[in-house]
Amino acid sequence: MAGEAQSDCLFCKIVAGEIPATVLRRTERTLAFRDIAPKAPTHVLVIPHLHYPNAAELAAAEPAVAGELLAEAGRVAEEAGLKDYRLIFNTGAGAGQTVFHAHVHLLGGKPMTENMV
Ligand code: 5GP
Ligand code: ZN
Repeated sequence: MAGEAQSDCLFCKIVAGEIPATVLRRTERTLAFRDIAPKAPTHVLVIPHLHYPNAAELAAAEPAVAGELLAEAGRVAEEAGLKDYRLIFNTGAGAGQTVFHAHVHLLGGKPMTENMV
């Protein structure tokens, strides 16, 4: 069924507590934890408990949960004292996605003024 936990998915295992992570916030539908290989002083991943392969598919199936991901990212930034930060959704291997469970990267704590767009 769409959204069901996948036994071979790293982030489903983190949601289930089967793989440890440094969790900052947990809600009924989302989890925020530190990236294991931080690319900035603050590098947090916010994920839905539900398994969808990327953010667009999550938003199409569960728009309210997709909205909660953004709201939670904002709360994590606020708790970290970040006024300026970047949110990134890699979608597809060619865009750098390596874990195919929807997630948003929250990056901050250093100047990030270089732009790709
Ligand atoms: P992607 O490249 O798919 O957009 O992002 C996946 C992210 O997951 C990467 O930044 C990577 O460092 C992080 N990651 C991979 N394995 C683990 C893990 O076991 N624990 C945590 N906390 N992060 C992980
Ligand atoms: Zn998953």
